[in-house]
Amino acid sequence: MTRSGSARRTRQRNKGKSSRRLELPLVADLPVPAYRLPKLVLAERRGSLLRPNPLSDFVDDDVLSLNHVSGCAMQCAFCYARAYPRYAGDAVLTLYAGAAEQVRRELTQRPTLPRAVYLCPSTDPFPPLMEVQRETAGIVEVLAQFRVESWLMTRGFIRPSIVDHLQPHADLIQVTFPFMTADEKLRRILEPLAAPTRMRLRQARELLRRGFQVQASLEPLVPGLTDSREQMVLLLDALKASGINSVSAAYLFVRPGIQQNVEKQWGPLGLAEPILDRYVDGPILPMGRIAAARHLPRGDRQRGYALLMALAAERDMTVHVSALTNPDFSAPPSPSIRHDRPLRQMELGQGKPWTD
Ligand code: SF4
Repeated sequence: MTRSGSARRTRQRNKGKSSRRLELPLVADLPVPAYRLPKLVLAERRGSLLRPNPLSDFVDDDVLSLNHVSGCAMQCAFCYARAYPRYAGDAVLTLYAGAAEQVRRELTQRPTLPRAVYLCPSTDPFPPLMEVQRETAGIVEVLAQFRVESWLMTRGFIRPSIVDHLQPHADLIQVTFPFMTADEKLRRILEPLAAPTRMRLRQARELLRRGFQVQASLEPLVPGLTDSREQMVLLLDALKASGINSVSAAYLFVRPGIQQNVEKQWGPLGLAEPILDRYVDGPILPMGRIAAARHLPRGDRQRGYALLMALAAERDMTVHVSALTNPDFSAPPSPSIRHDRPLRQMELGQGKPWTD
């Protein structure tokens, strides 16, 4: 990992005290930065929408993926998609016009149909922009007409009218909600334009009640910040109260572009350096078909997962550790580790913030 001059100087100061962690500021003392929703524009999509799943070394090849939007409204610093060199920035979100109909044409032309399509590896299918939510629902409807499952992952809130639209296809829809914290202030810092955790939990419960398949993940765990006993207890209790008894979990991984975004967004708050410092001695590991990344040292991950599993077990909950983000775990840390699901996420013009 390349480090800024100040980080290197700090590391020099800490030489010989390697077990000492750089201290994180108290969340209560932090300001919450302001973020703006991007402007939505429409564009033609060149090339296929249905693509091989980038996670297909960890799920079967019968699962495709699809991004009908370029960019993401949520602006999470840790996001690997925002770190792609071709990422267009956060000011504009591009929705591919007629995506649902294009998916219909592509499915019609395929010799065999996929079992499922994962929406979306590089954006969120349910940002607070109604046009995008409508197009997502249209795509799911087309997939359902071909009896293809939709695997949706969102940090957003699915509007009630869209849930109603999806309802007839609930048996073919799996929604995964990633969560980071039950602390709303910290959530606004980490997932700036995502929906509040309590809204997502309420929606998860409602979707479960309505017959959708619902999964939850603790993703990403941020060392020193969201993996403390206190943070995990708050979040697990909130999940349990929402009817969720099983979660997957994955620690933050870092690439140069992710590091730059973390330094840019979390640096002014004093969060970036203590967090990134925990990765300096971590391994760079391959991640199947996606680019290798630097991970937290293995022992630190094992300790974090062990604490999470112990706290979950006290609540009759189970934890599945992500294989994708822990390729150096030679044996599954939990007998329940799984490989068959991705774990790892508007009127034209300006959207509206989430309303509870
Ligand atoms: S919601 Fe998902 S895709 Fe969007 S910025 Fe956050 S992590 Fe990235």
